[in-house]
Amino acid sequence: MPMPTQDVTETMTRLKTLVGEMHDIHGAQGLLGWDLETCMPKAGAGMRAHQMETLAKLAHEKIMAPELAAVLKDARALAAEGRLEPLDTALVREFGRDYDQQIKLPAAFVQELSHTTSEAHPIWVEAREKKDFSLFAPILTRIIDLNRQQAEIYGYQDSPYDALLDLYEPDLTVKQLDALFPPLREELVTLIEKMKAATSPPTRDCLTRNFDVDKQWAFSEYLLGVIHFDTDAGRLDKAVHPFTSGSSHADVRLTTRIHEDDLFAGIGSTLHEGGHGLYEQGLDPALARTPLSGGTSLGMHESQSRLWENMVGRSKPFWQAQYPRLQAMFPEQLDKVNLDAFYRALNVVAPSFIRVEADEVTYNLHIIIRYEIERALIEGRMQAGDIPAAWNEKYTQYLGITPPDDGVGCLQDVHWSHGSFGYFPTYTLGNLYAAQIFNTIGLRQPDVLKAIPQGDLAPLRSWLKKEIHHVGRSETADTIARRVTGESLNSRYFADYLNRKYAGVYGL
Ligand code: ZN
Repeated sequence: MPMPTQDVTETMTRLKTLVGEMHDIHGAQGLLGWDLETCMPKAGAGMRAHQMETLAKLAHEKIMAPELAAVLKDARALAAEGRLEPLDTALVREFGRDYDQQIKLPAAFVQELSHTTSEAHPIWVEAREKKDFSLFAPILTRIIDLNRQQAEIYGYQDSPYDALLDLYEPDLTVKQLDALFPPLREELVTLIEKMKAATSPPTRDCLTRNFDVDKQWAFSEYLLGVIHFDTDAGRLDKAVHPFTSGSSHADVRLTTRIHEDDLFAGIGSTLHEGGHGLYEQGLDPALARTPLSGGTSLGMHESQSRLWENMVGRSKPFWQAQYPRLQAMFPEQLDKVNLDAFYRALNVVAPSFIRVEADEVTYNLHIIIRYEIERALIEGRMQAGDIPAAWNEKYTQYLGITPPDDGVGCLQDVHWSHGSFGYFPTYTLGNLYAAQIFNTIGLRQPDVLKAIPQGDLAPLRSWLKKEIHHVGRSETADTIARRVTGESLNSRYFADYLNRKYAGVYGL
């Protein structure tokens, strides 16, 4: 017998109350985490650990509560019968996905994973310091094994790696990545080869002079105004490793870094985190306190940061309007550097060992290398001990450089010591989504791009908000891509963007 309409309303109200409370706890966890990285006094660390632990315990109790299981079961039945509003159907789908991910893993397994990764972190730190992968290999073998077990618990169709990708980019599979990454890799390797042969390549000299940090800070704050980040609903602070967090669309915490001897380190990270922040501020307030009030996937989130950092922040139209101000701020350093020289300096491409320092082009090869290795490890085609040789071989083959040691090679990233496999591909997906979206804007809304050299970024900000940010997680990344650009993710647009741009910068 179908549930009476009045009970449908009651079920959804109850579900929303429960998920709202969980959302509040996550918001508090986010703020405590932000505080820890930005302004907590050193002596606060001990008490903070207790506070975080208590909140984590509360969150766990909430998700394991029998009442939640019962309400979700009823809500899922209603969604299956088509008796819910579209937004409620999306809420049940997305919350159900989070719920399944959390409760599918047996408590003993979660404990073992957490124990192993806590143990692994200091070992990784020591191995990296000593540049000796063999110290890290035994515990990494255990972590890989646990990830393989995790994939079996979650289940998959083609590759166990699919189950891990899904944790970060819902529904992403190796089949899709196989259509995206190999052609992109070929394009990138060819482009880098061409750039190496350029007769007068640009240099970064004009960016690596001495730039007063207070003035740089003021310029970062100015840039947030230019891109219409709302400082009544967010703020900017300093952090060693910049990130964005916060508790809702109305409270977004950005962080950036300022380097005295690298002007674009600060500008780039402010625009990058600002892009993440605009996504959060652009969410429909009606989605607040539900799992729908967030970016739809890590890849889509990263597309917004990279769009502002690279497609806007490393473009000539943007600096046509903004460069005079920067020059006026740093006359001694930039007076004799014209716009064209400055633009070319922002876009120097050079193969290097460290992913986080890589440029817009080579960055993606760092990611593809990690993807190929991770996938082979999770599919059991490679063992931990094989990583250094495979790593160095791929760097030599794709980037033309061979890491001199494991410290700047396969030990550089923290992700594996945390137990995260399947995360890296989302960084490059961000670039792919950004290029595809930017291409669509150019075709369908050329006026949005024409306003950029006038210093008017409001049309771009509004378009992104309306088309992408507003819907939150109520649409999947693929649904958004198809609705906005007319097709699923296609690496062609990013390859075309890079080929076009760097032909100009490098005179190819
Ligand atoms: Zn980012």
